[in-house]
Amino acid sequence: MACLKQEVETLKLSNIDLVKLMSNSVDISNPRSSTVTNTKLSYADMSRTKDNAKVIIKPKNSKQSVNKTKGDIINSVDPVNADVKVKSVKSISSGGVILTCCTKEAEKLKSLACDKLSDNYEIRKLTNIKPQIRIVGIPAYMDQTAAIHSLLRQNDTIFKGNASDYKCLKFWGTKYNKDILQCIIEVDLDTYRELKSIDGLLIGLNFCSVYDDVNVRRCFKCNAFNHVKKYCKNKATCSFCAGPHEIQDCTLDKSNKDLKKCINCCKLKEKETSSDNNSNIINCSHATWEYNVCSAFQGVISKINKEVFGIDCVKGDFLGQH
Ligand SMILES: [Zn+2]
Ligand SMILES: [Zn+2]
Ligand SMILES: [Zn+2]
Repeated sequence: MACLKQEVETLKLSNIDLVKLMSNSVDISNPRSSTVTNTKLSYADMSRTKDNAKVIIKPKNSKQSVNKTKGDIINSVDPVNADVKVKSVKSISSGGVILTCCTKEAEKLKSLACDKLSDNYEIRKLTNIKPQIRIVGIPAYMDQTAAIHSLLRQNDTIFKGNASDYKCLKFWGTKYNKDILQCIIEVDLDTYRELKSIDGLLIGLNFCSVYDDVNVRRCFKCNAFNHVKKYCKNKATCSFCAGPHEIQDCTLDKSNKDLKKCINCCKLKEKETSSDNNSNIINCSHATWEYNVCSAFQGVISKINKEVFGIDCVKGDFLGQH
C-alpha cells in the first residue's frame, strides 16, 4: 500500500514537472532583442511555426514506464533550466518519448541527453521527412491539377492546410484499369494522422483508396529491408521460395502458390518464437514482395511511423499497404 502511495506521488510529481515544462515552453520571448517586449507567442502560434525538430528518447529497457523516462529527463537533462523549450511531448510505446523543439534547441537537447542519459537510453534526432500517401482510383478524365484541386476541396475536413502544404510527387496510370489513375502526395503529420481514421477519399465521384507510401528498400540478394544488393554481405535467399539462391536461379513453378515462402516473415517468426511472443499470427506463405500480407514489411512500416513520424500504430492498423 505504501508502495502504491509512493507510486501515485511519483506520478503526480512527474505530471507537475511536465506541466512546468510545457508552460515554460510557451514562453519564447527573445532575450536578445530587448527593444521588443511582449513578443510571446501563444502556444498555438508556436505549434504552427515550421521550425520543428523532434528528439526521441527511448529506454534500453523496453519494460520501463514513460513516467520514469520523463522523470529521468527532467532530473538529468533539465530542459527547463537548460533553456530548451519543449513544444510538445508525445509518449510512444516501450517507455519512450518524442520531444518537439525548434531545430537549434533540439540539437542542444540531443547532446545534453547523450551526455547524461546514453547509458540507459537510445537518443536520436528524427529526420524531417514528411509522410507520403498513395491515392488510387482518381478518374482518368482528370489531369493532375484538377485531381489535386478536387482532392483538397472535396476532402477539406482532412486536408486542412494550404494547398502548398501538399506536394504531388507522382501522377500516373494504373496497370490493370485504364479508367483510373493514381498519385503520390506528400502530406503534413496532422493530415497523415487524420487519414488514419478514414476508409478512402472522394475525388470527383470516385471513392479512392489510400495507402501508406513509405519508401522502404528491399535487397534483391538477401531480401532484408533497408539496404541494397550492392552493399549486401549476406547470403542470397529466394524472394519466391526462401531457398538459398536468388530468384533468377529458382527452378520452382512460380504458378504454384503453395511453394511461396517469405524469408523475412520466417525470420520474424523464429525471432518471436524464441522470445515467447505470439508467433502464430505470422504467416510465411507468401512471396517476399507481397507486402499487403507481409508481417515483416508491416513491422518495418510501423517502426518508421513511430520513429520517423512519431506516430504509434499497431501493425496493420495504419492505412493499407501496396
Ligand atoms: Zn542483402
Ligand atoms: Zn527459390
Ligand atoms: Zn513476409
